[in-house]
Amino acid sequence: GSSRGSGAGNVWRVSGLRQEVDEPDEAVLARAARQIGLDPGQLAFARLAKRSVDARGRGADLHFVVQVDLAGQGPIRSQKFERLRRSGKVREAPTAASLRVESAGRPGGASGGAVPHVVVVGAGPGGLFAALGAAESGARVTLLERGEPIERRGRKVVAFHRGGEPDPDNNLLFGDGGAGTYSDGKLYTRVSDPMEFTVIQELIDAGAPPDIAYDARAHIGTDRLHRMLPRLRARLEAAGVEFRYGIRVTGLVRSSGARSEARIRAVATTEGEIPLDALVLCIGHSARDTWARLLEDGVLLEAKPFQLGVRIEHPQELITRGRYGPEIGDGLGPASYNLQSKGAPPAHSFCMCPGGRIVASVNEPRRLCTNGMSNSKHSSRWANAALVTTLTPEDFASFGFEGPLAGVELQRHLEERFFVAGGETYQAPAQRADDFLEGRLSGGELKTSYGFGAVPGRIDELLPPQVRDAIREALGRFDRTIPGFGGPEGLLVGIETRSSGPVRMTRDRESRRALGFENLFPAGEGAGYAGGIMSAAIDGARSAQSAVLEARESLSKP
Ligand code: FAD
Repeated sequence: GSSRGSGAGNVWRVSGLRQEVDEPDEAVLARAARQIGLDPGQLAFARLAKRSVDARGRGADLHFVVQVDLAGQGPIRSQKFERLRRSGKVREAPTAASLRVESAGRPGGASGGAVPHVVVVGAGPGGLFAALGAAESGARVTLLERGEPIERRGRKVVAFHRGGEPDPDNNLLFGDGGAGTYSDGKLYTRVSDPMEFTVIQELIDAGAPPDIAYDARAHIGTDRLHRMLPRLRARLEAAGVEFRYGIRVTGLVRSSGARSEARIRAVATTEGEIPLDALVLCIGHSARDTWARLLEDGVLLEAKPFQLGVRIEHPQELITRGRYGPEIGDGLGPASYNLQSKGAPPAHSFCMCPGGRIVASVNEPRRLCTNGMSNSKHSSRWANAALVTTLTPEDFASFGFEGPLAGVELQRHLEERFFVAGGETYQAPAQRADDFLEGRLSGGELKTSYGFGAVPGRIDELLPPQVRDAIREALGRFDRTIPGFGGPEGLLVGIETRSSGPVRMTRDRESRRALGFENLFPAGEGAGYAGGIMSAAIDGARSAQSAVLEARESLSKP
């Protein structure tokens, strides 16, 4: 966990503080202390807990809104403190959760009983933190990943971008580090789980910048993510995790014998069967082939709503000016945005990458899908984000796609349509925002950061009508927040189909087990219970803990 003032009283969180853009952190920490009636010299510990930009007033009143965690050297007894506690402006700071899980009545680790073997599938954030959680809880852990270690994965990604075909196991979605490895590495999360602090600390230990602990716009960047992965791997290996790369899971092998629920004895893989006591599946939102195999093996899969739309790209300058006002210099760096349109149908921006570039997140040949990434310095002159609306299983049915994998079928159908419209070379169809609104093809050169390049296309006609309408409405609204957003400097590039997963591997809420299985634990984004790096990591860690508990209990039965 993060360093807490040892020997001090409780750690308290003070919220609602204001920090000027050029004000040093120490000043705001001291102000927080005084606000609760402490002299800064009486602090045992203080640090920023959360910081976000308040840009509502644009240039004139631009400032940060800050929360501070602090502790006195002893109990705090001031009247100011009591008053702020009653008003809710001061509350107890959350503490980090442990990766290690103890069975009731018996300590973890080698507890006399046999050590369970937990197999984790997928080396994305879900699988990495599942493996770490299981290992820290005393299990023997094998981590199976279809792709290669980051160094070799990178070479295959480059080969695709130089004009080759996409590799089915090493691409922007698959391989060491999982889907987010070529990303902005944003760590925003909407879950509120004390495991978040644990994950953050592990990431900092592996080389992430310490400000990810409090910055509301915390991001790591592709370059830094790539340097961190080998260190994270070393940390896991030291905890006892065995990594096996280049091996794909192709099915489940059940135990024999009559039971009310199925028990898995091994996973079938491209390198033969691997026996296990519990299986944690963290296969991500694009393991379409694996979902199909799991369905055949009796796993309950359900179609779930997912988000679909386009990438939109602007000059970063236009976004920063629109957010912060014309006179703000470099102090705050390139601005980001997070916009919602409550129109009918609604739409929102997602996965905004300031100073980034558009990439092809493709794992199947002849299908096109965009996404965005950026380096830690946010140094490109382009800003991009997904602009998406939610499609439901009723929408899938209106295209004639039914069943658990209906969403996957719809994704594939639209990805093929955009691939063909782009000229069958992974160039992407693109349309200027004003042309999209007017329903005409864009003329002239279409400048974009997208490596394969853009060709003029009628995105307004290629998208399903409900998606087109949602994006139309959103462009109008967002243009009022950021002037020029919906004008000729905005370029729509498509199609974006993988913002979230179209499938749920339904599990029991309490035990986290797949329905109908004793020892199968689907987790992360591919299970439909997480979205994003942080929530997948937390879900993986928690599911691994459940897996260890189940495996220990079943091993202790005669
Ligand atoms: P994944 O990361 O998808 O990992 C699944 C792993 O399982 C893969 O490595 C895959 O190779 C492996 N696998 C699949 N099937 C098998 C099999 N049968 N056998 C063996 N291995 C298998 N999220 C954010 O929070 N912030 C961002 O800035 C961000 N940017 C993104 C940018 C891009 C370009 C992309 C594609 C995604 C981005 N995301 C971002 C989303 C984020 O990457 C995912 O939410 C997250 O990675 C999900 O984690 P996961 O562990 O559940 O699955």
